[in-house]
This record gives sequence, structure tokens and C-alpha cells, in this order.
Amino acid sequence: MMARLILPCKGSGLSNTCLLLQATCRVNSVGHSVKNISCYRQFLNLEVTCQRNYRFPYPSLPRAKQIGRRLISSVATETSPKQVEESKMDTPKEIFLKDYKLPDYYFDTVDLKFSLGEEKTIVCSKITVVPRVEGCSSPLVLDGQDLKLVSIKVNSKELKEDDFHLDLRHLTLPSPPSGKFTLEIVTEICPQKNTSLEGLYKSSGNFCTQCEAEGFRKITFYQDRPDIMAKYTCRIEAVKSLYPVLLSNGNLIEQGDLEDGRHYAFWEDPFKKPCYLFALVAGQLESRDDIFITRSGRKVSLRIWTPAQDLPKTVHAMYSLKAAMKWDEDVFGLEYDLDLFNIVAVPDFNMGAMENKSLNIFNSKLVLASPETATDADYAAILGVIGHEYFHNWTGNRVTCRDWFQLSLKEGLTVFRDQEFSSDMGSRAVKRISDVSKLRNYQFPQDAGPMAHPVRPHSYIKVWNHLLCLGTFFL
Ligand SMILES: [Zn+2]
Repeated sequence: MMARLILPCKGSGLSNTCLLLQATCRVNSVGHSVKNISCYRQFLNLEVTCQRNYRFPYPSLPRAKQIGRRLISSVATETSPKQVEESKMDTPKEIFLKDYKLPDYYFDTVDLKFSLGEEKTIVCSKITVVPRVEGCSSPLVLDGQDLKLVSIKVNSKELKEDDFHLDLRHLTLPSPPSGKFTLEIVTEICPQKNTSLEGLYKSSGNFCTQCEAEGFRKITFYQDRPDIMAKYTCRIEAVKSLYPVLLSNGNLIEQGDLEDGRHYAFWEDPFKKPCYLFALVAGQLESRDDIFITRSGRKVSLRIWTPAQDLPKTVHAMYSLKAAMKWDEDVFGLEYDLDLFNIVAVPDFNMGAMENKSLNIFNSKLVLASPETATDADYAAILGVIGHEYFHNWTGNRVTCRDWFQLSLKEGLTVFRDQEFSSDMGSRAVKRISDVSKLRNYQFPQDAGPMAHPVRPHSYIKVWNHLLCLGTFFL
């Protein structure tokens, strides 16, 4: 049986809390001058010659954002054998901020290989593990959910069943080597059957990921926590006719054909990142291409990927991306740090928008606009959310959170930045009135009721609940 559910979206759906954080900030704290603002308006005018009526009034912004946040998705509701199994598991554990401990092991490099298939997908991971303290004898506990373990090797030697412990949520190595070592794990997953839409899933013919907050553990066994930051490579293999586009984080190093109609792409992200920023997209998509020259003269390729029929509606999104890149350089001194920036917009991405390093994924509603159907508020909302996810490149991605209790730090700072951006692009006063109006209409009632909670809670049971709590007014 299929049911239609309304799912929340993340994107800037956290902004109520962020707005609260920001409410005490002085709006001129980043030192804009009138000259700066007119400079952006000029930039804007130059960039939008193909669009009409380009001002960004915000009077109906909440309505436009709410539309974006009410995403409809279909999920199976029939009870599967696995769900029955899960009901026998321990009751959920409350996670306390005060219990935070540094990890015993860090991961230095992570090399992933995905062989995408119609029945199953094979994921090979090769991880360089470094003990935090030399000579550490603690067990290494990896998170993992809905995974089939195929093999596990330590320093190229295959482990026997007695060498590790596997349960429904963890893979534990009771006595790993005391120094630096290599861990190779092969898992089998079924993205086609993944209706949680976390981890790697297949929808409308495309493979897509969502790893924030704890989706990566549905891809492979890993220390799925944001303070584990590693350099990643990712090789993707798939049938070329079905999945001509293979995307992941970082720069595209190599691509080519394989036997049996398959092809591959090899991606390398030179910067350390937590696994919640990992992303993979494979499918039939087309791109709008452009370039951005950074202030130091580097050429960055920009691509917005959508199903072919949506491509004409990405003009404003591309404009918004270029405006955000320039604004972040000029106002915050932050230059983009890779050769390539990809945005994917697909109709069934359930989180609204996600800032995966150099591969932002959006629900189409937050990217597509055409002069025939979009309102000024729609244009303003797209500008804001494209900017928001782009700005995370530095506030959230390169500088990330220690644990999920710090979520509001990265979101608060990035919402502040996107508000400043939207203010410079349009009317600062109107934008501020719109934001304060949202606070008064949605956040204040929540804080006056039983759903009130601190911006940084002392505990949570599910990270997901914490995320939802922060975005309650958008549900
Ligand atoms: Zn955000």
C-alpha cells in the first residue's frame, strides 16, 4: 500500500532557531556600505538581462518558503519483516550533551567505491584509521544500519567471524591494531528498497543520497559522527545508458567506459569533511553550465543538474549561485575552494536542500522558476536558499560542528549570512520585517508552549527529532 505523507524539509527549515540566534545580532555587523549595496544591485542587473522585473521584495516570503517546505513524498507503509525485527530492539537511548567523549580513533582517508546495480549496490570502503592516542587498546565501534556485511579486512587480512562483533546497529572490532591501520569493508545495500530516504536511495530512476544527520551509516559501517573528518575519494560505476551522469563531492579526476555498457567516474575531495556531507547522485540529468572567476583568478565550473524538462527554469538559480559566490568573497572574504560546484535539483529529494560539499542537492521547488509562473517571492526564496546552501561551504562544511548539539551554530551563522545576502540584494528593511514577522508568528508561540526547547538541548533521543524540533513551524 502506498500512502502520501507530508515530510518536513531541512534546508533553511532550521531558520527559526537561527533567527532567534540572529535576532540579537546587529544587522550592520559585517560592515556593509551603501556603496557595497549598490555594487550588488549593479551586479544583479548585469546578470539578469534575460529575466524580467528584477527586484526582490519580500512581503510574502513566508508563504513561498512554506510551499517549499511542504514536500509531498510517497512511502511504503506495509510492515516489512525488518520493521518487526526492529520493534524487538532496545528502547531508544537518550543522548546527553554532557556525555560527549572524544573518539578513540580518527579516520584520515576514506576511499569509496560504489558499484550501482538494479538489484543491489556493492559499497567498498578503504579507511586509514589512526588511534587518537598511540597504543590505544579500545574497541573500534562502527555504526551501521540496514547493511549486509560481505567482508572485512584489517591491514589486508580478512577477519574471521570471531574477530568482530556484529549487531543490528554496530560493527565492533574488540581489539584493533594499536597503531595506524587500514580497514577495508565491503557491504551490500538495496537503494531501491530504501524508503527511509536516508543514506543512498533510488527514486524516479535516479540514485541520490541524504546523509545528514545519520544517513551515512546506511551506506557503509563508519563512525557516523561529525567530529570524524576525513579526505574522501569516490569511484562510481554504473550502466551508462541508465545513469549517464555520475556525481560525487570534490573535483572530477577521471571518467571512462568499462565493459558491458558500464562506465565510471572518479571523484576526489581534497578537503576533510564529516560523513554527513558525503553525496552521490547518478541518473539521467542534464546541466546548465556556467563559470565563475574567483577574486584570485581561478576558474570554477558551475553546473545545475535537473531532469531535461526542468532545465529552462534554472536561469535564476544560476544567477543566484554566482551572486552568492561573489557576495561571499566581497563581504566575508571567503573564496570558493574547488574547481567545480554542482547543484542537483530533483523533484523527490525529501530534505528541501542539502549543503553536501560541492554537490548541493535540492528539491526542485527550491530551484526552479520561470517568469510565467513564479512570483517575486518565489524568486527571492530561491535566491535565499541557493545562497544559504552555498554559504555552508565555509560555515558548516570546512568549519563544522563537533556533535549534533552544535547544529544551531552552523545553521545560525549560515542563516545570518543568507539574511545579509538577501538584504543586500533587495531591501534590507523589508527582509528584516519579514524575518521578524516569522519569529513573532511561528517561533514565539512555540516557545510559549509545550514544544519550547533550548536552542542547544541537553539531550535528545533521535537526532532527527532534534532537527525537526528546530524546524517545527515549517511542518
Ligand atoms: Zn543550513
